[in-house]
Amino acid sequence: MGDPKDFQFNLPAAARPGVHSLHEKIHAAAWAAAPGSTSARPEAAASAIRTIVIHATAGSSTEGAVSVVAARRASFHWLVADEDEAAHGDFVWATAPESRAAWHVRNTCFHPDVYNGARRVNDWSLGIEIVNAQRGGDGFSDWQLQATAQIVRYAWAKYSNLAHVVSHARLDPDRRTDPGSRFPWEKFEALVLLDQCLRTTNNV
Ligand SMILES: [Zn+2]
Repeated sequence: MGDPKDFQFNLPAAARPGVHSLHEKIHAAAWAAAPGSTSARPEAAASAIRTIVIHATAGSSTEGAVSVVAARRASFHWLVADEDEAAHGDFVWATAPESRAAWHVRNTCFHPDVYNGARRVNDWSLGIEIVNAQRGGDGFSDWQLQATAQIVRYAWAKYSNLAHVVSHARLDPDRRTDPGSRFPWEKFEALVLLDQCLRTTNNV
C-alpha cells in the first residue's frame, strides 16, 4: 500500500457527473450537535467547496466517532460505518450540514497541490470519516470504499468547483496518518473516476 501522505487525486472537470444521488441518513445525535461543532462558511458552499478530505476514525464504532462531535472537539460531514454495524452495506450517515464548515483539519494545515496551498481547509472542504481501527488487521471493506466513492461522486456532481480528493495525512503529515497505509487509494480513485459505485435503492 502507498504512503497516506501521498494520497491525492484530482477531479477532471470534463468528467464531472450529472446528478448523482446518495443513500444517506441523518445521524440524529451528530446533527443535533452540529451547530455547536461547525462554523459558518465565509463563502456559500455552492461555490466554496474545492476539496474532499478522507479520514479514518482510529476507532471501532460510529458512536465513538460521533462522541467527538457531541463534545465539540471535531466534526465531519459523513461517516461510513464499520463492517459490524447495521448501516454497513446499506447507507452512509450524514453528520453535519454541507453548508457548514466542519472541523476536521487544523486551520494552519495546507498542501501546495491542494487549492494552491490555501489555509483554513475546513472553510472550503467536506470531510468524510470512515470507521476503521487503523491498526492490527482491520482493513477497509469493499462496501466502505464504494460508499465513500459514492459520496465523492455525489459531491462532485453538486459542487462545480470541487477539484481535489486528499487524505488527512497529506494536509497534516506531522500529526496524522489517516486513512492509513491499508487504505487502497488507487482502487478508491478508480471507483470515483470510473463510476463503479454501488447502485443503491434510492437512486434517481
Ligand atoms: Zn483525520
